[in-house]
Amino acid sequence: MDRRRFLGASVAGGAALGGAAAYGQTSNLPSKFKPAAYALPRPANSASLTADYYTYADDLVIERNRPGKPHQGKVLAAIQAHSDDITLFAAGTVAKLIDEGYTGYLIRLSNDEKAGRTVGYGVVQNEIDNREAAKALGCKKVFSFYYRNHRMDDCAMIEIRQRLIFMFRLLQVNTVVAMDPYDHYDENPDHLVVGKAVETACWMASPGGGREYPEQLKAGLKPADVREKYYHSRAPQGHNLVNRVVDISSYIDHKVRANVANKGKGPAGDNGSRLRRSLAAQGKKLPLLGDDDDTANFQYVKQFIMEDFRTLGRQFGVEYAETFRYIGPEQDHRDWMRKYVDEHAVSL
Ligand SMILES: [Zn+2]
Repeated sequence: MDRRRFLGASVAGGAALGGAAAYGQTSNLPSKFKPAAYALPRPANSASLTADYYTYADDLVIERNRPGKPHQGKVLAAIQAHSDDITLFAAGTVAKLIDEGYTGYLIRLSNDEKAGRTVGYGVVQNEIDNREAAKALGCKKVFSFYYRNHRMDDCAMIEIRQRLIFMFRLLQVNTVVAMDPYDHYDENPDHLVVGKAVETACWMASPGGGREYPEQLKAGLKPADVREKYYHSRAPQGHNLVNRVVDISSYIDHKVRANVANKGKGPAGDNGSRLRRSLAAQGKKLPLLGDDDDTANFQYVKQFIMEDFRTLGRQFGVEYAETFRYIGPEQDHRDWMRKYVDEHAVSL
C-alpha cells in the first residue's frame, strides 16, 4: 500500500477537519487508532504545491483579513533559500501582512544557480525574478546573500546566522516568514539550513542577546524584537505541524503575480504565454489566456497552478488558504510577578 493512500485514508477518522470524507477517501486504520497525520486531498490538476501531510494543533486559528492597518509600524522579513520558496508557499500571507501595515523585506540566501538554462543564466535570471517577486508582494527592498545553491549545508551556520542577526537588527524586524526548520521531510539541503539559521538568529538578535555580536550594537544597531514567526512547509513531500491557516482569498492575485515573476524556475513564470504561442502555431487559441502575454501568464498561473491552495482553503471554508506553524509573542512572567507584588506587598 502506498504511504499517501494509507495516511490519506486515515483522515476519514478526522471528521472534525472536515475534508477527507468529502473527497471519497476511506480508511484502513483500525478504529482503536486515532490518525496522527492528515493527508491533503489532491485535486486532479494539482501542481503539488501543498505538503503531503499535516499535523493539526487543537488550538488552530484561521487568520482572516484584519481591517485598517493593524500592523502599521511593524517590520516583516520573508526569508527564503530560493526565489520560489516564499512565492509558492507563503506569498498570499506576505502580501496580506504588508497590506495590513507591515513594512516588508524579502531576503534570499542562495544564488539559485541550479535553476536556469546554465549555471550562469540561473544566477542572473533568479536575481531578476526575486526582485520582481518582491515588488509583486509589496516589499520595500530585497536582499540576497548568494550562497551557492544546494550547497548551503557546507556553509558555516555561524556565518549565515550572524548575517541574519545583522539584517534583523538593521531592519528592526518584528515578524519573520520562513520555511519550517522542523519539516519532516525535505530533499533540498538548503531549506532546513535556512529555517534553522532564521530561528536561532531571531533569538540572538533580540534585546536579551546584548552580548551577541556586541560590536553591531556599538556601531549603532539596536536589538531586534522578533516576536512572531510564520513557518511554512515545503511541498509536496513536506509534513509539518499546522496551528494557523491564513485566508489569502483577497490576496490570491498578489500570489499569482509573484509566481508569474518567477521565470527561472518552477511551474509558473511565462508558461502561459508559451502555451498561447504554441496554440497559435497550431491555429488555435484558448480564450482563458486572452490576447497578450501578460494576461496569458496571469491566467495560466491562477487557473492551473493555484488549485492546491483552493483545495486547501475548501477544507477550512475559505476560497484560498496557506498553512503555517505560527509562533507568537511569548508571555513575560515578570508582568504577572509585578502585579502580584503590587497586590501583596505590605509595609515593613
Ligand atoms: Zn527552495
